[in-house]
Amino acid sequence: MIEVRLIGHDGFYGISDVLRLFFGNVKEDRGEHLVFSESEDDLRIISEAGDRVVTYVEGERDFWENTLTERFPESIETKREIKRQLYFLLSKKTGKEFPWGSLTGIRPTVVAKEVGTGEKLVSDYMVRPDKAKLCITTKDNEEKVLELSDEDAMNVYIGVPFCPSRCAYCSFVSEEISHHLGRLGEYADALKDEIAYVGPRIRKLSSLYVGGGTPTVFEDEDFRKVMMAIKDHMPIDSRTEITVEAGRPDTITDGKLLAMKEIGVQRICINPQTLCDETLRRFNRKHTVAEFYSVFEKARKMGFEIINTDLIAGLDKEPEELLRSVQGLLELGPENITIHTLYKKRRAALSRSEVLGGDDGLDEVLRKAYEMLECKGYKPYYMYRQKDTSHGLENVGFALQGKECVYNVAMMTDRRNVIALGAGSVSKRIFDGGRFERFSSPKDVLIYIRDHEEVAKRKVEFFENGVEDEMSEM
Ligand code: SF4
Repeated sequence: MIEVRLIGHDGFYGISDVLRLFFGNVKEDRGEHLVFSESEDDLRIISEAGDRVVTYVEGERDFWENTLTERFPESIETKREIKRQLYFLLSKKTGKEFPWGSLTGIRPTVVAKEVGTGEKLVSDYMVRPDKAKLCITTKDNEEKVLELSDEDAMNVYIGVPFCPSRCAYCSFVSEEISHHLGRLGEYADALKDEIAYVGPRIRKLSSLYVGGGTPTVFEDEDFRKVMMAIKDHMPIDSRTEITVEAGRPDTITDGKLLAMKEIGVQRICINPQTLCDETLRRFNRKHTVAEFYSVFEKARKMGFEIINTDLIAGLDKEPEELLRSVQGLLELGPENITIHTLYKKRRAALSRSEVLGGDDGLDEVLRKAYEMLECKGYKPYYMYRQKDTSHGLENVGFALQGKECVYNVAMMTDRRNVIALGAGSVSKRIFDGGRFERFSSPKDVLIYIRDHEEVAKRKVEFFENGVEDEMSEM
């Protein structure tokens, strides 16, 4: 059993994150100020914060005290120092190291921006040098892309939380359409209303992203209805980036592609996840690799300027499958390739041990995949990590130069306003000094359909509040 006793602080999340990284399981006893993990190892650790932060194994206090005597008066620094020390101690005791060191619960590029160099990420957070380099490159590219999105402009997200079937690894808020058959038309109508209410109140629009779920899950007629509402009510100009996450190739029809073209969609996501039919079947994707190729070719012929394709690393027992998929995509030449690492929450139908043949090899395969992409001119331009991602690894969006997705960076960096429409969507209002506030729309689709008019009004008020010039800041 590994046990950490917290003294003088309540950094349960940070302590739990680090223990989870090493031992995979965590329990908290907040009353007793304890966090613990089941493990064959036996360690009783004290994590103490007051004038200084000290972490030590009971009975070994002298040893750790020498290393850890700095003062960290700011609470965010204290929290990071608590994690840093625990990571350092556990790494020494177990002999294990992780690619991102003690960086948990924060986007790596946020820290990269603060510390400025890869060397500091390595020395202060024990990030592995190759990840530190990836992080700094991504941060630099993120900054360049962010310059393309005016601070006073709005970014719009339109969410469609339905999918034709649920992928076995899915951790998103999305519902199988079979649960809502007959209500999709009503959902499209509600979205149309929300777009019609919010759109005219936006002064300047930087990017618009229709995501999900799978937005192309609608019947052609309903999909077209949503597209035309965007065209009629959103203040789209020649600089507005418009993306539709078509996602599942089996839902993309000629009619939907034409509707997208008609409103000026430049960026479309067609996601194979893997180029192996057997894996697709196993994960309940309900489409084939051949269907992916066919839709990709159609979208190309229709002249979509940017095609993004997503892959997931760690889907198969054999990590090298990812490299074959990357090679296949490179031969097609999409402008964007995004590589996610398998991630699972309780909602996913399969447990991680069922879908992975072990984490071994995945880290190395990812490194090779990145190398293959960079050799062909793809650069990392946004990145995030999720708790419980296999081996603590990352998700990275790569793009050919000038083909990056502005919305992805605006949303990910928390430095641009995003007004989000649809069930379960979350709007973000950014304030000076980096502070931001969120507004959540109802997650339940039926409640959203019932209350969408009221929700749209409250959402607009959320952005208006405190702004003198009526809606001018949207
Ligand atoms: S397509 Fe995406 S959102 Fe839909 S079930 Fe699969 S992983 Fe989840």
